[in-house]
Amino acid sequence: MVATLGPATHRREVIAEMISLGVNAFRINFSHADYETVEEAVKMVHEINEEKGYNVAVLADLQGPKLRLGEVKDGVFVKVGDPVSFTNQQRLGTRRQVYMTYARFPLDVNPGETVLLDDGKLIMEVVDTNRRDLVRARVVQGGSMRSRKGVNLPQTKISLPALTEKDRRDAIFAVGLGVDWVALSFVRTPADLMALRALLNEHADHRIPIIAKIEKPEAVKNIDGILSHADGLMVARGDLGVEMPAEEVPLIQKMLVRKAKVARKPVIIATQMMESMTDSLTPTRAEVNDVANSVMDGTDAVMLSGETAVGKYPVAVIKSMVEIIKRVEDSRLISRPDHNPDPAEKKRYLTNVICYDAAQMAVQIDAQAIVTLTHSGYTAFQLSSHRPFCHTLAFTDNRNILRMLNLLWGVYAFYYDKWHTTDKTIREVNQIAVKKGIVQKGDYILNLSAMPVREKGMVNTIRITEIG
Ligand code: PGA
Ligand code: MN
Repeated sequence: MVATLGPATHRREVIAEMISLGVNAFRINFSHADYETVEEAVKMVHEINEEKGYNVAVLADLQGPKLRLGEVKDGVFVKVGDPVSFTNQQRLGTRRQVYMTYARFPLDVNPGETVLLDDGKLIMEVVDTNRRDLVRARVVQGGSMRSRKGVNLPQTKISLPALTEKDRRDAIFAVGLGVDWVALSFVRTPADLMALRALLNEHADHRIPIIAKIEKPEAVKNIDGILSHADGLMVARGDLGVEMPAEEVPLIQKMLVRKAKVARKPVIIATQMMESMTDSLTPTRAEVNDVANSVMDGTDAVMLSGETAVGKYPVAVIKSMVEIIKRVEDSRLISRPDHNPDPAEKKRYLTNVICYDAAQMAVQIDAQAIVTLTHSGYTAFQLSSHRPFCHTLAFTDNRNILRMLNLLWGVYAFYYDKWHTTDKTIREVNQIAVKKGIVQKGDYILNLSAMPVREKGMVNTIRITEIG
């Protein structure tokens, strides 16, 4: 589970309780964040990790080229047929004219294109543009126009860079806080991810993985290139369902989860999963079904947004979500399409084969866990992606990897830095698994190791251990 932090969770006891119930990662939404509060929140997560021995990850979510209205007078309401103009000059909005945060809008837009406000609640059609500072539009679906609401332009080729100046500042700030994942909103092409990769590499002392948020039709079209340049995906159903007809989203979700599993990269399903629990103590039947079906699609994580950031019941919503996940997480529907490692992936082909075989073997012998020692986290990504229907326990001496792996399907990561002989190391890590209550007497464990352990080489051994 990924939970978004916000005013509703800005207390140590609340965060600690959410973790104890099973939150694996917290999201910082840089669309609504001031640095001081973010810093405090991340500090609380890190301190709780430290004190209680958790490895909860922090994911920094960059706003990307999100367009917004400026301030609008209170009580502005527009009706079908009303003329409304958009200007790139900052001013207080009225029912006739509003400011939008996109300087080149008059240059990029064309008559006939659609402007969606407030998650598509209001719809306008562009009439004309003076190609300088004013775009005239007509209301197609009316409603209240409120300050700072999001604007989507599904048909307009937006010339804004994927990484805005604000994103650059936020990313550098997030690196300084020691976040474990960075997500980029409104990704359109692989080049968007390369720009963020370069920035992160320049400012971080280790490789910080990137999640591409899929929320534009262009991203769906370019998904293969994007997936090969991302370390994970987010099915960002909020904006995706505005930019495309909402009825397209269910099959896109299935396609994205499937592609992520085959590419052996984690995927997060986001937005409105438990929306009604923002101010109610029970989820709707449809929400229960949505979370359950997302788990059965085989997603790595399900995400909460406003439910935890600003909702009334940030802890109760986690409890409800846990109940749903527990009920379905052993479902065989989660399985991924059988996908043999490709010999063309020369670099780690042998490791890939070992992980694939271990996952198969785990199913054959009904193993309780696959245990691996890892320096980069690579084997944990591989194992988890095969959805082996058992836990994957990753032991590593790298604390960054430890937290990062928490996002992956079925993975628990533990700190381990004693590199003895193979026999002794395997005995010790298996004992840790017993102590943590993950395996017990009579269970089978598959131990992956690189023999000899001391050389810290590539995995070359699978051993079956029966817990005695
Ligand atoms: P957001 O992204 O919450 O940052 O908008 C998720 C989504 O659009 O679904
Ligand atoms: Mn979004």
